[in-house]
Amino acid sequence: MGVQWLLVCHGLVTLLVVVSFLCGQWPIFQGTFIQRIHFFITFGAYDYFGRFVHFVCGSRGTNALLSVENYCCDRPNPIIQLIYLLIIGATYYSIAKSSFIYIPGYYLGGVHRYTSFLAVGMGILLFLLTSFSDPGVVNSANVSQYLSAYPYDNIIFSEKECSTCKIPKPARSKHCSICNRCVLLMHHHCAWMNNCIGERNTRYFMAFILWHFLICIYGIVALALILAGRLKELQVIHILTAYYGIEKSFRKLAPLVVQWLLNAYNTQILIMVFLAVVSLLLAGFFTYHTKLCLTNTTTNESFKWREHLSWQRKVKEAKASAEALKASLGELNQERKPQESKWKTFFRRSRLEELDVVKNNIYDRGFLHNIYEVAVPFSTRRSFLLNKSKSG
Ligand SMILES: [Zn+2]
Ligand SMILES: [Zn+2]
Repeated sequence: MGVQWLLVCHGLVTLLVVVSFLCGQWPIFQGTFIQRIHFFITFGAYDYFGRFVHFVCGSRGTNALLSVENYCCDRPNPIIQLIYLLIIGATYYSIAKSSFIYIPGYYLGGVHRYTSFLAVGMGILLFLLTSFSDPGVVNSANVSQYLSAYPYDNIIFSEKECSTCKIPKPARSKHCSICNRCVLLMHHHCAWMNNCIGERNTRYFMAFILWHFLICIYGIVALALILAGRLKELQVIHILTAYYGIEKSFRKLAPLVVQWLLNAYNTQILIMVFLAVVSLLLAGFFTYHTKLCLTNTTTNESFKWREHLSWQRKVKEAKASAEALKASLGELNQERKPQESKWKTFFRRSRLEELDVVKNNIYDRGFLHNIYEVAVPFSTRRSFLLNKSKSG
């Protein structure tokens, strides 16, 4: 088998593993082998490993494994932060090592040696900013301002106290069980950042995702321009057509050019495939979060709304079927009515279809206002700080 086919297989297997790991639990993959691979990577393999440790080391080994698991999954720790730094560092290093010799090239100016470094540096800066910034922790000093800033909607948030922090729980806050604190507008606890994503750092988090998407696209385009430049500089098309007498048509030339690129520049092509997969995932993640930000809903709230709406729908359905039953009993008691035309019955909307449940999100005040709230969080504004010094 040729080198190019080994590379294609390698790329496909990497793609399959990455997609299965990150998206395997999506409804679209339910019942497919991608879901099974996801289950194996996230649970099955670890389960077999646990059994193996128990078999070899007994209960002491199992206890040690459980304490490692507790440290890695249930407590704040920098392991995945280090993995992020390793991934971005290794990717940049392999690009620099394999491709910087071709810069400046036919299509790419020498300045890209420096701009690429700046782009990655900016990415790491956004990472540090999101990781080490205050996500909007609720404490006894600021709880009264938060309580007055976000009124309870009495639908998904009602007045209560956090049983762990022992302070009133403002509307739109959530207790993070990993960091053991209440955070306002909490989206989720991000293991990559080792920090919660909440009111004050959602802006950095969104900038981080968008910036990394752009870095991936920059990398793909720059590498493509380097390869196009090599084709031009080495006169590959000219050699193929003039020396080997191959017809000058796209259909005849494209497979040969691709084969040549896969043989001569396999590192660059593998990096481009990797960047393409990562950029797709980042684009999906960014779109999902943008949709939430535009409607002023946190990830946590979107789950709460889903639960609330499905419950409301069930209540309405139960009421409607009770009414339908009552009506049909009434009809039975009445004398025979003239039969309704078949067409009329066909076009009459089902009673269940009329059960519209509305999402009455009082925090959604138009997308411009919502964007402003993400960009300039309430607790960073002058009014909040003045209020704080007055009450403090
Ligand atoms: Zn709490
Ligand atoms: Zn947290």
